[in-house]
Amino acid sequence: MFILLSEVLICLFSVLLVNGCATNQQDSMEAVARDIASKNNCSGNRPFKIVVHGGAGDWSDFSNDQRHTYTLFLENLLISGKQQLSTGQSAVEVVESMISALENHSGFNAGRGGYKNSNGDVELDAAIMDGATLKSGAVAGTRRTKNPIQVARAIMERTKQVFFVGPGADLIGSQLGFRNVNQNYFETSKSDLELFKKNEKYGTVGAVVLDKCGSIASGTSTGGLESKPPGRVGDSPIIGAGTYANNLTLAVSMTGHGEMIIRHTLAHEFSSMVQYQRLTPAIAAEKLVKRMKNVGAEVGLIAVDVQGNHAVAFNTEGMIHGVIDSSSNPIVKFGYH
Ligand code: ASP
Repeated sequence: MFILLSEVLICLFSVLLVNGCATNQQDSMEAVARDIASKNNCSGNRPFKIVVHGGAGDWSDFSNDQRHTYTLFLENLLISGKQQLSTGQSAVEVVESMISALENHSGFNAGRGGYKNSNGDVELDAAIMDGATLKSGAVAGTRRTKNPIQVARAIMERTKQVFFVGPGADLIGSQLGFRNVNQNYFETSKSDLELFKKNEKYGTVGAVVLDKCGSIASGTSTGGLESKPPGRVGDSPIIGAGTYANNLTLAVSMTGHGEMIIRHTLAHEFSSMVQYQRLTPAIAAEKLVKRMKNVGAEVGLIAVDVQGNHAVAFNTEGMIHGVIDSSSNPIVKFGYH
């Protein structure tokens, strides 16, 4: 009995530290996952909201068919997110599922559709943050992870660490139970490449969510800039640069020129403007993108706060994005109008 108990404890301990103990590890992990899932149900009844983006850039030469395809996809995605939130799923849960779907769609520069680096390999970055706890998880430079956002979330909830890179990020993903894929999984189809013709620079995806309990979360996922040097990491997985969430201020996901976003710690700067200058998210967002334009940086962002105020701003030609809330139908736009 004692041996059994100590084995379980050792095993549980090793699962928490993400170590071996192969035979019982799967069971214990499932128990941990169930525990997390139960905490992810919220019983509040407040108005909720979702904002997603598919990258800042120039979408102006999209044909009507292309617009229709992307619009339909994002509308359906937002409707499924709305259903999830109405059944009490948490902001973190819905951020993960919105971004997973975008990662699985090869028409966005994230997950399956991630751009290749200058060696012809796909290296992916992602981060997620829970505004209620300031807990966060991130991965950078993954080459074998199918859904970086899922591994980022598992790092946040099931390990003591925050950020894993390169082979270590792929490894922790498989240790946490996620399937790895080969590089050829990331081949973007010819027709999707055609869709991307004019959008060679951006296409990163992000989501910010307010749930029924009044909590917010954010996530961002990307293949980075096209033909980046191997090992280059942009802003998306860096907490406070491309991704940030804090129930006291807002949840934000950035897109655009990663190096400039990192230098200006833009997501946290945005949060500070709301916190200390007492600006609304929409006003702070406009000021921020204008300021970045003045220093020559192309950026875009989405944000939501716990009151349900949201912001969408960019200084590029456009930014594909969509919004839905508890009482509305989805709205998808390629620019401001
Ligand atoms: N911010 C991303 C990066 O620099 C690119 C993008 O938003 O499209 O990696």
